[in-house]
Amino acid sequence: MPPNNRDYPRAPGPSHVLSFAKRYVPVTITAQLTQRCLRPGVLVAVLCGTIAAFVWHDAPAEPPGNRVATGQKSKPAYSTRSLRGRVVWLAEALARRFNIVQVPEAARKSLAIETRDGSLIPLAEDVRGRGFRRDLRLRKMDLELMVRIYDRSPVAQIVRVYSLEKEGKFEVDYWCDICAIAMYELKPCECCQAEIELRKRPAR
Ligand SMILES: [Zn+2]
Repeated sequence: MPPNNRDYPRAPGPSHVLSFAKRYVPVTITAQLTQRCLRPGVLVAVLCGTIAAFVWHDAPAEPPGNRVATGQKSKPAYSTRSLRGRVVWLAEALARRFNIVQVPEAARKSLAIETRDGSLIPLAEDVRGRGFRRDLRLRKMDLELMVRIYDRSPVAQIVRVYSLEKEGKFEVDYWCDICAIAMYELKPCECCQAEIELRKRPAR
């Protein structure tokens, strides 16, 4: 008696291949797509896009001008200004202008720029500021100082020093001929220890 076909597994014929294909190929394609979408780069991009969409949608509009002040704690906000005048000892100017007599030890404590319009603006004494303490010639110059004034601070930080003369405007610093390097204050050259010279170059 021939075996019943239904009781024994048959060798896969064309119809079986077709049904296998129908059943598994869509699954395989879906799996491939899923796998592709789950690649780290794609997944991160999709996640970022989704998060960004929510964040941007909910974030209140902020004027661009406030971003430096509020968003970046490492970079406090400041304005850059050009001040024309002379650098003076603050104590001397307070006495001369307002009869404020300070104690003797305050005499050479602070420097300020006395502007042409009569404002007294104290100067931060970083290396550029100290240049005015060390060299009387700088305090005798009619100057234009490019300064930074930080929000909520009265103190100006010197960025550039220009001398205003009949011949024009000159950028001022110090120069060592031997080492060909510039410095911001009068001292022995920080490289070869030789004397350095006051340098004035026509301002661009
Ligand atoms: Zn030198």
